[in-house]
Amino acid sequence: MPTLNTPTTYLDHLACSDCHSTFSADALHSTCPRCGSPLLVRYDLDTARSELDRDQLAARPDRLWNWRELLPIRDTGHIADLGEGGTPMLRARRFGASLDLPDVWIKDEGFNPTGSFKARGMAVAVSRAIELGVREFVVPTAGNAGGAAAHYAARAGAQAHVYMPQDAPMANRAECEFAGAEVVLVDGLINTAGHIAAQHARERGWFDLSTLKEPYRVEGKKTIGYEIAHRLGWRAPDVVVYPTGGGTGLIGIWKAFEEMRTLSWVDGRGPRMIAVQADGCAPVYRAFHAGVDRCELWPDAHTKAAGLRVPKPFADKLILATLRESGGTVVVVSDDDMRRAQSDLGRREGISACLEGAATTAALERLLRAGHIRSGECVVCLNTGTHLKEPPIVQ
Ligand SMILES: *Cc1c(COP(=O)(O)O)cnc(C)c1O
Ligand SMILES: [Zn+2]
Repeated sequence: MPTLNTPTTYLDHLACSDCHSTFSADALHSTCPRCGSPLLVRYDLDTARSELDRDQLAARPDRLWNWRELLPIRDTGHIADLGEGGTPMLRARRFGASLDLPDVWIKDEGFNPTGSFKARGMAVAVSRAIELGVREFVVPTAGNAGGAAAHYAARAGAQAHVYMPQDAPMANRAECEFAGAEVVLVDGLINTAGHIAAQHARERGWFDLSTLKEPYRVEGKKTIGYEIAHRLGWRAPDVVVYPTGGGTGLIGIWKAFEEMRTLSWVDGRGPRMIAVQADGCAPVYRAFHAGVDRCELWPDAHTKAAGLRVPKPFADKLILATLRESGGTVVVVSDDDMRRAQSDLGRREGISACLEGAATTAALERLLRAGHIRSGECVVCLNTGTHLKEPPIVQ
């Protein structure tokens, strides 16, 4: 536990990602009150630099909460934890050798509570909202965000209302009900669910946990970045490959590397952030290659990878800026590519990847061929969840 003269957190203020207005971190905020863009959390990193020892934090037994001084909870008594974070990062030698990529790693987020990395974001967002007085939550979801919100709300003794498309994976619906959430099935995709959820949040006074419509889910996801750097001996990989839906993790991991640079925990410019999307729903791909800074709504979005079925990410501008600033790119893969890569990872490495996670390894060959990755580079692929929630196994 922190000593008396060390603050629990270096939390300082919130800043708008677009108009750069600043706001108190100790009032409950959704998006920027001035322009409606996502708010990001800022810490007093100059003080933190002189007071924090990265190895001391990494050596704690508290997984995600190892990094609590750089997370937004003031009183650790408000933390709703289920054992999130601290997931394995596995070197995939055999799989990498088959691609002539000797230094490829899988950060395996399937080990998190509720079987996906959504747990990290929800653990932090729910804990912080509870600290700021929230007792009832609403979240629109393509699948895993709902299950995670339901479990962390239950852990905090609060109520969750989850809005999901009718055809969301059955496992996700079941896990929400299991944790006592109200599940509302919506005729449409996640953005339709998002509109209804936002309206009900306003009418009923619930707090909306939608992707990037509150500042704290990104904070939970950024801990993936700290863990990657620590695992590599406080070094940034050359590339992080990320299956992108709403973009929380992409933005969070990049934010972690920016913070670690300011803290002098890592050198260099950080990893090139590469996004992978499904060819049936690729709004970020289209906008990136068109050279524009906003996405257009992708019509008739379809892919079996529910986490990638986001036809227009709310944080599009931030996602595109992250990709460009980091020197990354975006590629698309098909559902068949994802299935092949999924079974390849299973057979060659014994790694249980969800379709979204398998999209990242499916993209590697293409990225190599196009020169976006070079053979000797250190590449970290995010497996964002377990494959055990997918229909053929659950049924
Ligand atoms: C939500 C989700 C994604 C996409 O994550 P974003 O942060 O929204 O881009 C990828 N994979 C899985 C398994 C997910 O649940
Ligand atoms: Zn603003």
